[in-house]
Amino acid sequence: MAAGWRTLTIRETTFERLSKYHELKNIEKKLSPWIDDFLIMNLDKGNFLTQKYAPHLKNMGIHDNFVLLNDEKNKGFVKVILKDGKLHCDVDKSDHCVHIQYVMALPELSEFFRNKK
Ligand SMILES: [Zn+2]
Repeated sequence: MAAGWRTLTIRETTFERLSKYHELKNIEKKLSPWIDDFLIMNLDKGNFLTQKYAPHLKNMGIHDNFVLLNDEKNKGFVKVILKDGKLHCDVDKSDHCVHIQYVMALPELSEFFRNKK
């Protein structure tokens, strides 16, 4: 093991997905350093979202067809609803407000869309 690196166990299916993506995109960086960068970038993205871009918003839960946010600036809950494959904010009656942007940047978004077709 190279200095500064540790061994980590991940699911076989996760490894296969990452490995396949890495190969399909012809990423020059070797798989392990690429996954290391990928994890850090996602962590930084989440921190940027919650600490700098929209610290007044909090994900209160992902439901079957909506994400519930608490908006401390507007002192209330906001539903971002998935309808016909698009996200819609019930407070701003919009598909391009800060609530939509926040939900689009959530790492959990893939979980929200996973079973939707
Ligand atoms: Zn909104």
